[in-house]
Amino acid sequence: MGIYEDLGLRPVINGYATVTRLGGSLMPPPVVEAMIEASRQFVELEDLQAAVGRRIAELTRNEAAYVSSGAAAGLTLATAACVAGTDPEMIAALPHPQKVPGARCEVIFQRCQRSGYDYAVRQVGVDMIEIGPEASSPADFPAVRQELEQALSERTAAVLYFARGEDHHGGLPVAEVVAAAHARGVPVILDAAAQLPPVENLWRFTQEGADLVIFSGGKGLCGPQATGLVLGRADLIKACAVQGNPNQAIGRPMKVGKEELCGCLAAVEWYVGLDHAAMTDRFETQAATVVQRVAACPGVTGRVEMPSEAGQPLPRALLRFDAAVMGQSRDQIMEQLKQGEPAIELSPEGDDGIYVNPQTLMEGEEVVIADRLAEILG
Ligand SMILES: *Cc1c(COP(=O)(O)O)cnc(C)c1O
Repeated sequence: MGIYEDLGLRPVINGYATVTRLGGSLMPPPVVEAMIEASRQFVELEDLQAAVGRRIAELTRNEAAYVSSGAAAGLTLATAACVAGTDPEMIAALPHPQKVPGARCEVIFQRCQRSGYDYAVRQVGVDMIEIGPEASSPADFPAVRQELEQALSERTAAVLYFARGEDHHGGLPVAEVVAAAHARGVPVILDAAAQLPPVENLWRFTQEGADLVIFSGGKGLCGPQATGLVLGRADLIKACAVQGNPNQAIGRPMKVGKEELCGCLAAVEWYVGLDHAAMTDRFETQAATVVQRVAACPGVTGRVEMPSEAGQPLPRALLRFDAAVMGQSRDQIMEQLKQGEPAIELSPEGDDGIYVNPQTLMEGEEVVIADRLAEILG
C-alpha cells in the first residue's frame, strides 16, 4: 500500500495544472535528494537562507533572493518589506501600519488583475487602492495611467501587479506601471507565481524594473510545494529576511525549513539547466497523443492549443464533446474520470470542453488518460 492509500486516499493523475489543491507539482530526484541531505544535519537557519538566496540570485540573474513558504507568503513578506523595511518600530506595528504616523500603508493595484491572492497582501494591514476598469483593454491605458499617477502618494507603500501571459490583456503593461511608480519612489511587487515557463521570466520582470518578483516554488519550478521565491532589490530582500522566520515578526508563522531551503535551491538549479525546448516538445507529443486517440471517438473534436490557463507558452489538448451524440454531458465525463481507477483530474473549458495539461503529467500518463477517456466514451 502506498502512503496515500494507507490513509484511505486515492492518488490522482493530474492533467489539470500545477494547482495547489492537487499538490502543485512533483519534485524531480535532485530536489528530493537535496531535501533528504539537508534533513541530516543542523545548521544556522538564517545563514542558510542567506547563502541559498545568494545562489538563487546568481542563477536567476537577480540582485538578491529570498525563499518564502510559497508565493502567497512571498506576497505577504514583500508587502511587509515595502511597508516597514527594516525599521523595528514599523515592523512591530504590523499588521496595523496606520498606527505609525506617516507610515506608507496603501497598496495600489489594477481592478482587472484582482485575484484571491490579494488576501496575502491585505494580511499586512494595508489599504488596497483599486484603479482602472474591471476588464482592461489598451484603449483604457491612458486613463488608467492617469488614475495610477493620481493614486500614488506619500502613503503608497507599493504597487502590486499580477503577471499574466503575453496573450492576455492584463491591464497597463509592467513597464508603464514601473515608470509611474518609480517616478514617485514607490516599489512594484509583481506576482508571477505561475509564470514558469518560460524560464526567462525569472529575470525578465526584474529587468523590466519590477522591484520584487514572486514565483511559486511548487508549480513550474517543481520544487517543494511549500516554497516560493522573492527575487529582486537587495534592500527589500533584506527586509523580507528580517521580518521572516525565525525572527519574531509578521513572517514568523511562514516557516521555511532547512529541507525546503535546500530543495528550493536544487529546484532552481534543475530548472535553469533544463532543456526547455525538449520539454515543450515532450508536452506537445503528449497533448497530440491524447487528441489523436480521443478525437477518433464519435462526437469528439480535439486540437492542441497554446497558451495555458495562466498564459504560459505550454501546449494543452483541448477536447470538445457533443453531448447529443455522446449521450452524456462533459461534467458526467469528468465525474467518471475522477471516480474511476485511476482517478484522473482534468480542467473544464466552457460548457463542453476539457483540457488535458501535460505540464503535470508523467511520461506515459497521457496514454492512461486517453485510454480511460476512450473507455468512458465507448
Ligand atoms: C498559485 C498562485 C499563488 C500562490 O502560490 P503558492 O506557492 O501556492 O503560495 C499566488 N499568486 C498566483 C497568481 C498564483 O497562481
